[in-house]
Amino acid sequence: MTKIIILGAGPAGTAAALKAASAGWETILIEKDKVGGTCLQRGCIPTKALLEEAHTIDLARRNYGLTQIDESAMYARKDKIVADLTATLNQQISARKIRLIQGEATFVDDHTIRVNDETLMADSILIATGSKNRVFDFPGNAKLWTSDDALFQPFPSKKKILLIGGGVIGIELAALYHSLGHDVSIFEKEARILPNAPKDLVQSLMMDYKKENIRVLTSIEIVKITQGSDFTVAFNDQVETFDVVVLCAGRIPNIDSLNLNATGVVVERGLIQVDSNYQTSVEHIYSVGDASCRIQLAHVATRQALLAMDHMIHQTPVLPFIIPNAIYTPIQAAWIGMSEEELKAKGIPYRSYRQPLGALAKQKIKGDGRRYLSVNLDENNLILGVSLYLSDASEFLPFFTFLMENKIPFTQATTIIYPHPTLSEAIGELAASILEKSKTLH
Ligand SMILES: Cc1cc2nc3c(=O)[nH]c(=O)nc-3n(C[C@H](O)[C@H](O)[C@H](O)COP(=O)(O)OP(=O)(O)OC[C@H]3O[C@@H](n4cnc5c(N)ncnc54)[C@H](O)[C@@H]3O)c2cc1C
Repeated sequence: MTKIIILGAGPAGTAAALKAASAGWETILIEKDKVGGTCLQRGCIPTKALLEEAHTIDLARRNYGLTQIDESAMYARKDKIVADLTATLNQQISARKIRLIQGEATFVDDHTIRVNDETLMADSILIATGSKNRVFDFPGNAKLWTSDDALFQPFPSKKKILLIGGGVIGIELAALYHSLGHDVSIFEKEARILPNAPKDLVQSLMMDYKKENIRVLTSIEIVKITQGSDFTVAFNDQVETFDVVVLCAGRIPNIDSLNLNATGVVVERGLIQVDSNYQTSVEHIYSVGDASCRIQLAHVATRQALLAMDHMIHQTPVLPFIIPNAIYTPIQAAWIGMSEEELKAKGIPYRSYRQPLGALAKQKIKGDGRRYLSVNLDENNLILGVSLYLSDASEFLPFFTFLMENKIPFTQATTIIYPHPTLSEAIGELAASILEKSKTLH
């Protein structure tokens, strides 16, 4: 019997397989499509590659009057990045002597997997089959795109594009299309977009989107979508036509074809149920990543996979971890921990400090605007939450995560030197002003 079979080679499955193999476990990794999963093939990497390039093009257009762009060249570069990373991942998998099987896995029983014409048995099984787009049809005859389609379709001319859904994927695609010069609208069913992001960040993003003429309409009830040479969308009491409509209505776990009934693994509301060590209701079957977690992020999936393997191999109990979040718009919105709304709702005492970046030399170099960082602190200056609205904000998150994980007061950020000119100087300035204030208080 094999030591472990891992189902799905996304960020979670590949991280787990590499770790299992390093520990000397005989490892089988089964993937029905390409290694890298949603993240590498249809998610994080293609979107970020396109956003990065579109932002550069946008700056060239605004600052130097660039008029013509070849979107297909940009999409080809994105494909090359994905192909290179896929090749590297395949090399890592084969270097660790992991047996990679291409095919769709299904359970025969709780120790047995069927793939292609093979029946395989293992001591332990990890389900890391990820998620897929939530798709549904509105009344009418329209077949809508999802983000999977959008990431592969350059446009030869300006288009009028509707994104249905104001979650992270809809917001990022809006930034992409707008930077490329298309006319973009977002229709959101709920009263606010980005329900999990702090309110201050959502407001800042919305102000920028408004300034840029990216239309964001909330509380929209779509009544019908008719597809002819274009898309006619009836919503609330209006009708409007679009060239392209992309449905960005969230993602659901990819578990339907696994035949989990044969195992006794409990599924509730479409999600595999796991305990704090990522064990399902069947002790030797674990599940991590989008297949079992509502927080659908690649770094969360990877972290869970590594912790699940530690538990499987060494019985190390899993401890909670702090999750950094980022939206990769041209000015990035990033956050960790509890927002002011959350702290207020939970009745947790806090003090909030905000540092605008306007006076920083690096901010002037990058271009002006309402960029800031803010921290919510407890009475010992320990960080409860952070919001960042600035270029490359995601790059700053590990600094704050480190302080939070290690319970280091934010004021300790005054003890290091910040390179000049960088946006990171804002961190030092904010910490210094808080330290100064706390000295005056005591
Ligand atoms: C457009 C978009 C942008 C995103 N951007 C970001 C981002 O910037 N940052 C971030 O952190 N997250 C981002 N995400 C989310 C991120 O991609 C996922 O959270 C992450 O990929 C989940 O990893 P996973 O390993 O759990 O699953 P997946 O990456 O979904 O991988 C699961 C794999 O399992 C395979 N599989 C499924 N069923 C079977 C079966 N029965 N047999 C064999 N193989 C099977 C699938 O083919 C897939 O390759 C984005 C997602 C999308 C859609």
